Amino acid sequence: MDYEATASAWREQTLAEVKQQFQASGDAQVVPLHQATSHAKYTKQSPYTAELLTCQRITGRGSDKAVYHIEFDLDESGIQYQPGDALGVWYQNDPVLADAILAQVGLSGDESVAVDGSAVSLREALITDYEITASNPQQITALAALSESDTLTALTEDKAALREFANRTQLIDALTLADVTLNVEQFQSILRRLTPRLYSIASSQAEVEDEVHLTVGLVEYQHESGASRQGGASSFLAHRAAKAETVKVFVEHNDNFKLPDNDATPIIMIGPGAGIAPFRAFLQEREQREAQGDNWLFFGDRTFTDDFLYQVEWQQYLKSGLLTRMDVAFSRDQAEKVYVQHRLRERAEAVWQWLSNGAYLYVCGDANQMAKDVHEALIEIVQTQGQQSREQAEAFINELRKDKRYQRDVY
Ligand SMILES: Cc1cc2nc3c(=O)[nH]c(=O)nc-3n(C[C@H](O)[C@H](O)[C@H](O)COP(=O)(O)OP(=O)(O)OC[C@H]3O[C@@H](n4cnc5c(N)ncnc54)[C@H](O)[C@@H]3O)c2cc1C
Repeated sequence: MDYEATASAWREQTLAEVKQQFQASGDAQVVPLHQATSHAKYTKQSPYTAELLTCQRITGRGSDKAVYHIEFDLDESGIQYQPGDALGVWYQNDPVLADAILAQVGLSGDESVAVDGSAVSLREALITDYEITASNPQQITALAALSESDTLTALTEDKAALREFANRTQLIDALTLADVTLNVEQFQSILRRLTPRLYSIASSQAEVEDEVHLTVGLVEYQHESGASRQGGASSFLAHRAAKAETVKVFVEHNDNFKLPDNDATPIIMIGPGAGIAPFRAFLQEREQREAQGDNWLFFGDRTFTDDFLYQVEWQQYLKSGLLTRMDVAFSRDQAEKVYVQHRLRERAEAVWQWLSNGAYLYVCGDANQMAKDVHEALIEIVQTQGQQSREQAEAFINELRKDKRYQRDVY
């Protein structure tokens, strides 16, 4: 965040003053506090520089989605994470995109700008310090004022349209539309600081020890101009991190997405697409702990042949018995689209039985559609199988949530 550098300077100054006051009073000693946990050393503002060990595409050539399995070495950092936690990634923007943006606003990139009190070239700042892929309504509004573009100005008068436009338009395309040359100050005034992206951790330290694994879907789409656009962090991890060799990372703990303490508790995991990531961690952990509880996995994607992420691992777990059941939904393998929520409904009786036996239920992945559809399917299952009214079924699901037996990590 923008204020973090100032806040940290303030913290240091205050601590120094408090220390001085205590020492002046003579009867108190200042004892440095040990970090509560070893990993607290590395945070969002003070990330760990991890070596990239692996970056492998795990969708087939025929797939129109590029998903990558990524491994980092945490080496001697002492960083610890739990299944269900996420990894924060500080990424670098694509230099080609930075150059295109500079050309669009009529700047060379050699101009010097101040970032956190240090002078850097504008080009460098665009690559490492500023958000140049994701836009937002404030940025579009500021650009409308600077450019006096009729199209952008019209958008600023309709909040919903502005939000929708900002959600689907990257800075380069907004600048092209604005068609304006800017001086450095004007340009810098519309830029936001880069924020790290979070990725669900796809490994358990009980199995991989000093490594951390991710499952990253490359955000990629075609702008209406025909230009190909990619997400900032996902394209960095997929294409540029290997050249950079190291990546700045930190652990973001998530107490609201955790395995049950009792290893005998059955669990149902629903994770289509990259939503599968935390369940790879869950299963590695349950295997290492020799947990006796049953494990049921629902996975979905486009095609069996090209999009079955970590297929071999699930097959091995089914063979070893770690996975009690697995249901898959490949939406494009038949005329009718089939998704995980359809599979859930088909297995309604067994889902109800598992829930009645105390199962915990986990959902990870797309918040826009999938999580809502799955939620709806669950309510229906409780209604039909438990012979409950809609209200009773909703109350039942709410109770599950309160008891932490229904946990979601959706984004
Ligand atoms: C807790 C949590 C866990 C997560 N776990 C994972 C995970 O395990 N795996 C994973 O892959 N992701 C995960 N994500 C999502 C991840 O954090 C990023 O949001 C994602 O990778 C996109 O970031 P980006 O920097 O690549 O794209 P950005 O640069 O943030 O976005 C690109 C911009 O492109 C535009 N855009 C994108 N798509 C389109 C489109 N189709 N049409 C028009 N415009 C478009 C939008 O303007 C968008 O803002 C998680 C998120 C959270 C919060």
